[in-house]
Amino acid sequence: MIDQATVERIIDAADVVEVVQDFVSLKRRGVNFIGNCPFHSEKTPSFTVSPSKQIYKCFGCGKGGNSVNFIMEHEHLNYIEALKHLAKKFHIDVVDEEESPELAAQRNRRESMMIVSSFAAEYFSNYLFNENEGRNIGLSYFRERGFRDDIIKSFQLGYCPDQKDMFTQAAQKQGYKMEFLEETGLSIKRDEWIRDRFGGRVIFPFHNLAGRVIAFGGRVLKTDPKVAKYLNSPESEIYHKSKVLYGIFHAKNSISRNDKCYLVEGYTDVLSMHQSGIENVVASSGTSLTVDQIKLIKRFTTNITIIYDGDQAGIKASIRGIDMVLEEGVNVKVVPLPEGEDPDTFARSMNASSLLEYIASHETDFIRFKTQLLLKDTENDPVARARLINDIVKSISVIPDTITRSVYIRECSNMLDVAEDILYAEVRKIKFKITEEQIVREKRDAIRSSQEINQPVKAVIKNENPCAIEEKALLRILIRYHDNDLFSVDNDETGEEEKIKVGQYIISEIEKDNLSSVDPVIQLIYDELKEHINEEFFNPERHFVQHENRDVGNLVSGLLMDKYIESVIWKRKGAFVEDEHEILNVLVPRLIEEYKLRHVKLMKSEIMKKIGEITDPNDMERVMELQSIISNLNKVERELSKNLGKRAVTS
Ligand SMILES: [Zn+2]
Repeated sequence: MIDQATVERIIDAADVVEVVQDFVSLKRRGVNFIGNCPFHSEKTPSFTVSPSKQIYKCFGCGKGGNSVNFIMEHEHLNYIEALKHLAKKFHIDVVDEEESPELAAQRNRRESMMIVSSFAAEYFSNYLFNENEGRNIGLSYFRERGFRDDIIKSFQLGYCPDQKDMFTQAAQKQGYKMEFLEETGLSIKRDEWIRDRFGGRVIFPFHNLAGRVIAFGGRVLKTDPKVAKYLNSPESEIYHKSKVLYGIFHAKNSISRNDKCYLVEGYTDVLSMHQSGIENVVASSGTSLTVDQIKLIKRFTTNITIIYDGDQAGIKASIRGIDMVLEEGVNVKVVPLPEGEDPDTFARSMNASSLLEYIASHETDFIRFKTQLLLKDTENDPVARARLINDIVKSISVIPDTITRSVYIRECSNMLDVAEDILYAEVRKIKFKITEEQIVREKRDAIRSSQEINQPVKAVIKNENPCAIEEKALLRILIRYHDNDLFSVDNDETGEEEKIKVGQYIISEIEKDNLSSVDPVIQLIYDELKEHINEEFFNPERHFVQHENRDVGNLVSGLLMDKYIESVIWKRKGAFVEDEHEILNVLVPRLIEEYKLRHVKLMKSEIMKKIGEITDPNDMERVMELQSIISNLNKVERELSKNLGKRAVTS
């Protein structure tokens, strides 16, 4: 628990722009900042942050809130965890009871896994610097490779002792559960034995955008052909290999500042470039680039430059996935290094400015690079050449921007010696196919989402009075049974039993929530019932059937004769109808709750519609207001649904 004063200090300090900027590249627009929403995929930014109101709001997907909400949503933390995260970032001391293992166990799984990973990173780093084995083997390796201590510390490099389960034992002794040690892959447990996964390896921790450790890479230093040189954490709830980039936490600010991201292959490539002064660099570490990794980079820049070692086979393998990157609207450039060099050795051999100079003068557009590279293999082979043209055209056709596309077409026309209009025709053909597939997909999505969201709205269109069934049922019961006893309550003052009548109950419930009907005839009947119900000789059946307003007469006659309401409502409940008046004490409260539930749903869909209509980012406050009404309505809805059990009206 955190005391209220501290909570307020944290919220005051946690500037929403600063908080969001850790994860999203923001640009100023008027009084607000905008950027690409981290919660849904978008091509034009609609994620707005207001520094004056200290809130954010996405006009694409609707998410919004303050800095605490943002951290909760983005980092999958609960309220207290999000506050602690912000406290750490803004250097506010949180007085918190020492966390016992019992308390730690109560936290959610993700959080437990992150906590044990963070402990492991500290343990490995400490072992590297302060234990003989760590210093002699691990630290001396890093120093031999030329890494400075500040880089080693900043990236939390470490060493895991080569002593069977020494780390696992240390962790357990500190109260960390075997369950999470196994889950994160730090420990391997078999029937007979337990081992540290990374024993005898130097350790490269993976940090997520928030800087928390989520996984490890380990490199073995012994030369043993039976052992894999590099070993990674297994996939887990907190680590999805395809969504993570090594170095992103240390690189993000620099990527955003330079509006550019360098992509290399290995951990040491990242470290060497950092050491030479270039910090906007990440590694895909082993996997070929994925769409999720691109999206991660795209939060900070749309310019990616891939730096490859001179090995041709490596380049060709990594080229395959890059069409996906172009599709994301990212500008990809490629820098091939001289034969025999990799980014690690190359960065080591020169300082930052000459490295940047080299990159700038050797950067090639991806498509030009691909064309040149593949063209070499097609000399004197017309079939291979045709395949190449097809391949290049495919790459070009996924580029979203028309101008960029036409530039590439002109270039490729020159390089491939094919007329531009032939290339255009090919691109059109492919684009047409892509669009067709997209239309089918969008149609399917639209149908699906209209089924999910627009239920009540559709009901309004179909039927002018969306509560007609419930309202008519209530009127009928009022007219027929208003004077029947519903149930008895004990009067607090007199201590005597007091009978509540059907009419009294229904009217007080409706008045309590101020409900009214959109149907003027129904409303008129209800108003007159309310007015006369306490008169001793009031006979509602007669009163309404003979009413001067013929619509009233028609409706009430129908209600009294017709059995349709029973068949609609009671049958749907699956209740076998006994004699109606004998089960009023069950039927009437249920009907009231269904009626209220229907109203709540309608109000919600009205408000959702209003939110949807707000397009001006300056109206954020209004949106926040409406959203808080919705969350209140959600509470009411849950309460009513709970009372009704599974029998709530849903259609
Ligand atoms: Zn969004």
